[in-house]
Amino acid sequence: MRKRLAFVLLLVARAVTAQSAPAQPAVLPNQQALAPRIPVRAATTRASGDTTGYWQQRADYQIVATLDERVGVITATGSLRYVNRSPEVLRELWVHQYLNAFRPGSRWSATDEREGRLRFQELRDPDYAYERFTSAPRVNGRTVTVEYPLSPDSTVVRLPLATPLAPGDSVTVEFAWTARPSTVPRRQARRGRSFDFSQWYPKVAVYDRDGWKPNALVPAGEFYGEFGAFDVTLVLPADQTVGATGVPVSGDPGYARVMAPGSERPRLAAQAYRDVPAATTVRVPTGYKAVRFIARNVHHFAWSTSPGFRYEGTSYVHAPSQFYRFPIWDTVSVHVLYRADAADDCSRASLSESAEKRCVDESLTQWQGGKALDQTRKALRWLEALYGDYPYPQITVVKRIDASGTEFPMLLMNGEATLGLTVHELGHVYTYGILANNEWQSGWMDEGLSSYQELLQAGDSRVLLAARLEMANDRNPSQPADTAVRRLRARLDSMSGEQATTVREGTAEPIGSRADLFRSFAAYNASVYDRGQSMYQALHDVLGEETFQRFLREYYAMWQFRHVDRWAMQATAERVGERKLGWFFDQWVQQTGVIDYALRAPVVRKEQVAGRFQWVVTAQLARVGQYRHPMPVGVRTATGWTVIRTDPLKDVQLVQFRLDEAPDALWLDPYGSTESPTARFYRLVLPTR
Ligand SMILES: [Zn+2]
Repeated sequence: MRKRLAFVLLLVARAVTAQSAPAQPAVLPNQQALAPRIPVRAATTRASGDTTGYWQQRADYQIVATLDERVGVITATGSLRYVNRSPEVLRELWVHQYLNAFRPGSRWSATDEREGRLRFQELRDPDYAYERFTSAPRVNGRTVTVEYPLSPDSTVVRLPLATPLAPGDSVTVEFAWTARPSTVPRRQARRGRSFDFSQWYPKVAVYDRDGWKPNALVPAGEFYGEFGAFDVTLVLPADQTVGATGVPVSGDPGYARVMAPGSERPRLAAQAYRDVPAATTVRVPTGYKAVRFIARNVHHFAWSTSPGFRYEGTSYVHAPSQFYRFPIWDTVSVHVLYRADAADDCSRASLSESAEKRCVDESLTQWQGGKALDQTRKALRWLEALYGDYPYPQITVVKRIDASGTEFPMLLMNGEATLGLTVHELGHVYTYGILANNEWQSGWMDEGLSSYQELLQAGDSRVLLAARLEMANDRNPSQPADTAVRRLRARLDSMSGEQATTVREGTAEPIGSRADLFRSFAAYNASVYDRGQSMYQALHDVLGEETFQRFLREYYAMWQFRHVDRWAMQATAERVGERKLGWFFDQWVQQTGVIDYALRAPVVRKEQVAGRFQWVVTAQLARVGQYRHPMPVGVRTATGWTVIRTDPLKDVQLVQFRLDEAPDALWLDPYGSTESPTARFYRLVLPTR
């Protein structure tokens, strides 16, 4: 034991030397200090809505990692095969060592300090997280000197390439490293013998049509990765139970041993992938086991392990509905790992007695007896209906040490097993995991959309609510009889009201701002999640129910396993919606504002047409707010409503209705489907004649 400790200390000393590499200017590509909030640099490949012509790099990993529980550290070796499919010659590679965010001296800690949160700033060894090379990485067999340009932050690493990497060529980079999570949980953690390795390996940064995208890991923004395959062998104490991205192709993840009464036997889907390469020889110490996972078409690999997990599993069977350019499995293995060691786990969390009891209760009641499995199945069914078939052979949901949840390909680390959280995080397996946007530049694409689809799943969208009100043909939809509807609308109204306040006060920021440039983490959340959600609500209202649904399915079908950006999404919405939507994405993504329109000068005329009377209602609709929207305007008669959509591109326009009955009121947004905080249910009582 002492010997082993001494060995670890030696590695620490070497790694420190490696990290105090020659000082570099602390500026990353695409992150100039004075970079505009919205990048305007021309892309190397023209941004178009088509997938054709937009190349994408490829990154395949092979890793063997051995966990030493006593010190909470993995010792790993791995290789990355990186294919340059871009039209440019690359002279460097950028990789991330993201566990280094969760320690003193990191940019993450600096952000927490600035915003008044205490997490990792004062942690000491062995409580903070780290990820360190134990020897210099080798590129095609030659060692390279790594650089940490953001030092003392060491989440971003530059690897100069001795030989430039030409278009179409590949390099193999070999890494050897150690890593451990922090004892303070935040998206990753270790506690006792339990480990959540959400970040843990040298992860290559994305090179896309705007160039290299290395990013220090800070609280705002999480992921952007290159697609590829992972072949990961985890060497763990034999009584560990492990859940991971990928299917276990050999070795025992431990599910059968800790299976809860009533659970189906684990279906490991070990044969899910064809042509799995022969395993490399792995040294397995006495009392340990090696579990090998394979995952394809993913851009991240995460895993959680604990001897205290309890297992429940089932199969999700579906009929693949579309033709895809990747394999679809008709049966998806669903694994749920929750904590049978909750009592131990909760007691370590220094909670009050009542909170500790709640922690233990929740840990079991929310998860066990098939409950978490049910939520996962429900979420899968919902998301397949929304976007399209689930394209992986497996989904694993683990109860992590931290609260709340984080998404990974084929793996959710969730603190709770509520339907809402499951729908949100599994939704991310689609938006971020399969439709892979850059969360540092466009978090609204995945956070906003996953928040909105969560709202849709619950039936809580303003657009769905408006459809219900329209069906009811109520004379006064602003005061619906249904109290549940009233309560829900009050909640949605207060959210858009809050957003309008931030716009009025000048504190709102465009949702397309770079994540690390938001004023604060709270401002980032308010924009990317809340305003992002409002944006999709508005898009839903602009496109209409059927077109919006088709848009989501086409967006998924066209862009799956690719990097997506605003242009990809806009092009799909324009094609499906058969209209230009640049104005919509410009205002919602790059500007701040509210939808605010005014109805003015109503006139009612009675005309005789072909021997019958007609009532002609005219009024002027003027845009008052910064945002445009095809505002609905409605007129009410004794028998019901006539509602039209106006032109979003006109600042002032005439609206006109021809009716066979006398109208009594003219309403702006009669069903409350828009995101306008002021226009909803605004009405003008019409002069009767
Ligand atoms: Zn999210």
